[in-house]
Amino acid sequence: MDISVVVPLYNEEDNVQLLYDELHEVLAALPGSAEMVFVDDGSKDRTLARLEAVQRQDPGVRVVALRRNFGQTAAMSAGFDHASGAVIVTMDGDLQNDPHDIPKLLAKLDEGFDVVTGWRFDRQDAMLSRRLPSQMANRLISWVTGVRLHDYGCTLKAFRREVIENIRLYGEMHRFIPAIASGMGIAFTEIKVNHRARRFGASKYGISRTIRVLLDLMTVKFLLSYATRPLHVFGSIGIFSSVAGFLIALVLLIQRQCFGMPLGDRPMLLLAILLMFLGIQFITIGLLAELVVRTYHESQKKPIYHVRKVLGLPAAQEKSE
Ligand code: UDP
Ligand code: MG
Repeated sequence: MDISVVVPLYNEEDNVQLLYDELHEVLAALPGSAEMVFVDDGSKDRTLARLEAVQRQDPGVRVVALRRNFGQTAAMSAGFDHASGAVIVTMDGDLQNDPHDIPKLLAKLDEGFDVVTGWRFDRQDAMLSRRLPSQMANRLISWVTGVRLHDYGCTLKAFRREVIENIRLYGEMHRFIPAIASGMGIAFTEIKVNHRARRFGASKYGISRTIRVLLDLMTVKFLLSYATRPLHVFGSIGIFSSVAGFLIALVLLIQRQCFGMPLGDRPMLLLAILLMFLGIQFITIGLLAELVVRTYHESQKKPIYHVRKVLGLPAAQEKSE
């Protein structure tokens, strides 16, 4: 298989058929072979039934049904694990991404890039609750990761399979694939894509998502800086603070011993020293926590999703759990 289009769906019953029709039209016009991998992320509406109907019409379609709602990133991961394409294209199932942009993404891969991400330059979502917080988050992510993109949140992306094979995703991490990949030395680019307003169903997210994204950003920052020895960064902060603390203590001591100035009426200075040392401790504990969290996630190999059934695999591989 040349191309797999992976789509997570959660309560998108009215979008399924339209999505299939649009995708089918675009994929049929591509020069290579292409498959659709739809992941039902534990929908409470008739999304799965609609997907099964589509799969009956077109047995080439693959449907992965998760046991419950695991979230968009986990659903996408499930899709990756059941996709056979050398190139993976991801998009939303709500028709906000335009399948007609897929050939443009693929053309960029042909130019030699490994990851191509969409930039919703004319995003059709609420200003206050969605666009503003994500603009701020985008600035911050770009600053923290050093990976310059305009739109990290856009799900419409294309990448070579090798890119995701080395990345374990959790939390809200799918948006950081380009950032993590760039840390691995992978070439990425961004192109403007069409964005459409939702016609059916409702968005699953509000402002709380931005906060979760920012928390995951810390982990990603750590993943990225691992190679450049974060211990050195924390170590130098620690050395700098201790030296500053030692100097302040020395000044105080000289003032006390040589000039007889009492220490008792300098509470602010003591407070400053106290805070400084507490700061160092917090930083080192934070570092340890990052290491522990990372080791925890990597070591226990806990699956981030559970599959109920898979439709559309070749008969021998047909899976049901
Ligand atoms: N989605 C999912 N699991 C979830 C939440 C969302 O698979 O728990 C899917 C959803 O069906 C859609 C995509 O992720 O295909 C993006 O979700 P949504 O449109 O709600 O996000 P927005 O476009 O508002 O950022
Ligand atoms: Mg949407």
